[in-house]
Amino acid sequence: MDITHILDGLNDRQREAVGAPIGNTLVIAGAGSGKTRVLVHRMAWLVEAQGVSTHGLLAVTFTNKAAAEMRQRTEALLNTSARSMWVGTFHGIAHRLLRMHYKEAGLPQAFQIIDSDDQLRLIKRVMRSLAIDEQKWPARQAAWFINAAKDEGKRARDVPSGDDLFQIAHKKIYRSYEEVCDQGGLVDFAEILLRSHELWLNNADLLSHYQHRFGHLLVDEFQDTNTIQYAWLRVLAGKTGRVMAVGDDDQSIYGWRGARVENIHQFSRDFAPINTIRLEQNYRSTANILIAANKLIGFNADRLGKELWTEDGHGEPIRVYSAYNDLDEARFVVERAANWIDQGGSPDEVAVLYRSNAQSRVLEEALLQARIPYRIYGGLRFFERAEIKNALAYMRLLHDRHSAVAFERVVNLPPRGIGDKTLEIIRAEARRRNVSLWQACKDGIVAGAFKGRVANAIINFLKLVDDLAEIALDQALHEIAETCVSATGLIDYHSKESGERGLARKENLEELVSAARQFTGDLVFPTMSAATQSQDRLPEAGSALEAFLDQVALDSGDTQTETGPALQMMTLHSAKGLEFPLVFLVGLEEGLFPHRMSADEPGRMEEERRLCYVGITRAMQELYLTYAETRRLHGTDTYNRPSRFVGELPAEVLEEVRMRGAISRPMGGMNSRFFEEPVEGGLHMGQRVKHAKFGEGIVMQCEGGGDRARIQVNFENAGAKWLMLGYANLAALD
Ligand code: ATP
Ligand code: MG
Repeated sequence: MDITHILDGLNDRQREAVGAPIGNTLVIAGAGSGKTRVLVHRMAWLVEAQGVSTHGLLAVTFTNKAAAEMRQRTEALLNTSARSMWVGTFHGIAHRLLRMHYKEAGLPQAFQIIDSDDQLRLIKRVMRSLAIDEQKWPARQAAWFINAAKDEGKRARDVPSGDDLFQIAHKKIYRSYEEVCDQGGLVDFAEILLRSHELWLNNADLLSHYQHRFGHLLVDEFQDTNTIQYAWLRVLAGKTGRVMAVGDDDQSIYGWRGARVENIHQFSRDFAPINTIRLEQNYRSTANILIAANKLIGFNADRLGKELWTEDGHGEPIRVYSAYNDLDEARFVVERAANWIDQGGSPDEVAVLYRSNAQSRVLEEALLQARIPYRIYGGLRFFERAEIKNALAYMRLLHDRHSAVAFERVVNLPPRGIGDKTLEIIRAEARRRNVSLWQACKDGIVAGAFKGRVANAIINFLKLVDDLAEIALDQALHEIAETCVSATGLIDYHSKESGERGLARKENLEELVSAARQFTGDLVFPTMSAATQSQDRLPEAGSALEAFLDQVALDSGDTQTETGPALQMMTLHSAKGLEFPLVFLVGLEEGLFPHRMSADEPGRMEEERRLCYVGITRAMQELYLTYAETRRLHGTDTYNRPSRFVGELPAEVLEEVRMRGAISRPMGGMNSRFFEEPVEGGLHMGQRVKHAKFGEGIVMQCEGGGDRARIQVNFENAGAKWLMLGYANLAALD
């Protein structure tokens, strides 16, 4: 078979990776060096050059968007649709396995995925029933504890008891939460992974079926796998599966959520012998952007170490804008974005990246004013908005009357006079008789447990849901959504909220109906087709309604309905793997980015720096860095110094954009405006200094005082060094 088209458009190292002998392979390479491209070409190569069936391929990546793209590119290379190939996120794939094998996984067929919001509510309820003081042990912390345990593969019984109060309380909460979830058939995000790992461990036949099926496992963004994902992969690979993992230790940004960059080393041991390949040529960015990225990441100590280079020219300088405040920053970004579009660029070539979601609002307002279409990825996911969750709860109840989560959410929404007291009675009764809340209501009515207005309210609610469910039997999915939005009174209720908010909620509810109309059931897994189901002996996939509810629960905010080109706004975390011609990195201020929390925990500062590296390396042609002297966040004004990351970049590739419009000047002279704090010994931050051995550099940080003062200098040729101020004999240059 002619496979030249698969090896075309690859450099020698990439070709080596794509055509690596069948076996375990690790590709470690910097941003934009073609890792994802290698993975896609490898899949095509396996099929065309090695005669592997697409049925035998399993590819894992980080977002649904990336998964969809990977599938599409592989199919384009193969010039055929490859529906039997499994491509998805760890969560997506694990969830699919649980749906197919719910019995073996010990779940009811109608198990329900709950998101972090539902999880938190549930934990609060559990804590109340255990009489654990939320003031002392916040529910959020408990959720964190439980999820972290699950990510480590631990059930409540596996958590060491210990003798400190924290451990005792949290173990108790975990155990009780586990029970409630088991009773209700509820599965949180971490549970999806844990349970599907246990599915392997507890079902030898099933495991061997899949080991036999998936001879080739391919993993993108390997540096951000956590313990349970790694374990899942390792068990599945067994002795027969061949794994190609690609990743970049410099882009490990989920350590705070349990990702283990050490998995890269672990892989070399567990999957030995392995073939390791490195790529360093970058095809994404201009030389200036790469010079900045290399320099920045050089400040991290803990690295495998690699340098990116490109054949491309230097391109534009990286422009830095110092704004008065966040409004000024937004104005500046929008003005430059509008320029780009005026000059024939498309809005979707532009990305605005920020450290925290709260930063998006001001930017959104400026974009709205300028009439630039935009889309926000991640953030408060569409399906997490209160009004959407309300409508979804009704849809859920139509499908499964016994869902406690859905029942609790809408039993009194819109308000119909079923108050907390009544609910408490219903809950107690349900617990006592071990029935669902819905059943407890029905039985209570029959037994005459409720009186007067309350009884009427409950009867009306039960009847409403039953009636709508009856109608839904003959309805298409979007009609069901429409019913749940309007016939329930939700849309009227939400529209009454004052001003913009009411309007936005109404629009969102309408958007839900169109999302349902567009739903094809194959956003995450185009493989849900009848053909593959029979191959896998899939049970009937369930109704469109069920598939839709699953889909929205798993959506990570990256599969929104696309309507025309729009500027992309997202957090740095969700920008991983993506690329854009024009990128704005905003809010580069100490405390915001690096985030203030990174100061307390060892290693977190380096993770912040990696995050900045990820941000910079998203840019293909032009990159802007902005910071504001004052910023209003969460209702208070903050005054922050510019981020140390800006100071760490090499001055020769930066250019300051002056306050009022046109004139720009090189960055050399602006460092003194950046950092005015004095350092010991007559030096100040940002000052140029000369060292006898290391040459010229810029003062970055200072620690300690007097005899013990240490100073960090970023030397042009020698890189960053910590020096004892008393011995360094630095000469001040300006
Ligand atoms: P990241 O670390 O950000 O995920 P990556 O290593 O996965 O980056 P890719 O996204 O695969 O990099 O590639 C970056 C860009 O370079 C893409 O636009 C890709 O198409 C292009 N590219 C990669 N290799 C080549 C090549 N040999 N010739 C031309 N373009 C290439
Ligand atoms: Mg990639």
